[in-house]
Amino acid sequence: MIMKKEDFIIKAGTNVKLSNFDSSDTGSFKSKNDAKAILKKNIQKMSELQNKLYAYDKYSLLIIFQAMDAAGKDGTIKHVMTGLNPQGTQVFSFKQPSIEELDHDFLWRIHKKMPERGRIGIFNRSHYEEVLVVRVHDLIQNQKIPPELINKEIWNTRYREISDFEKYLYENGTIILKFFLHISQEEQRNRFLKRIDTPDKNWKFSATDINERRFWDKYQQAYAEAISATSKKYAPWFIIPADHKWYMRYAVSEVIVETLDELKMSYPVVSDEQLKNLEECKSKLLNE
Ligand code: ATP
Ligand code: MG
Repeated sequence: MIMKKEDFIIKAGTNVKLSNFDSSDTGSFKSKNDAKAILKKNIQKMSELQNKLYAYDKYSLLIIFQAMDAAGKDGTIKHVMTGLNPQGTQVFSFKQPSIEELDHDFLWRIHKKMPERGRIGIFNRSHYEEVLVVRVHDLIQNQKIPPELINKEIWNTRYREISDFEKYLYENGTIILKFFLHISQEEQRNRFLKRIDTPDKNWKFSATDINERRFWDKYQQAYAEAISATSKKYAPWFIIPADHKWYMRYAVSEVIVETLDELKMSYPVVSDEQLKNLEECKSKLLNE
């Protein structure tokens, strides 16, 4: 059976344990070739649905990618994008916050990058870093938050704030999809080694990645907790097996296509008056 959106979604209230998710799963596909045709169809469909999203001009779609290093965020974004019209799509990468950004609440820089109605916004990392890297490395002390507001409830507080924010967006027409690209520690090691051994891939490797790898278990724990706390009907998480890049791309495309397909959208109807207007323009052009 081919895996669908339903199979990757984390239902609200699930207590996620990442070790229960097989990062090397490929569903019923045995090899890349099995997924090829359906991936191609999905990319084509995505393009049609994006057109509709743009014309309808009421919803926007926000797609969030989070993952451990080398899981393939960049490649997946690139791949998904091949099916999209660049004019209706924006990609943003969130790095360490700047001094200006640290002078504001943590959602400030995120809210500024929200896709406009009719458009698709893709986030390479996101506000979730605030409960991932910030938690794992205890960076909250550098955030200029009044000390009396930092207590042991801070992460639960942030989960709630993030969910409130996402609910607000949803209630204003933003459809939110959150992807966790799930790779194994072994596969990450293979990919780092490949980056070191392949000259063309050297630029992708940074020594700090090795350092972060030492925090693997802490990250997995932080991811599991964040996903459990913030997967909601209005902003679901999807855990995508990412050891096989081709399967990850299929799964992501499937979730996006099904989501857009579920939206009740129509092309704007041309009124009688507009039709009359068109006819008048036509006869003017013909009589030139
Ligand atoms: P990537 O690793 O996503 O491909 P990159 O290698 O091009 O990106 P990096 O500088 O390695 O660029 O990644 C951005 C870094 O910024 C990550 O280590 C991430 O954890 C960190 N970061 C993102 N958001 C925050 C945040 N809110 N607070 C602290 N660090 C953050
Ligand atoms: Mg990096």
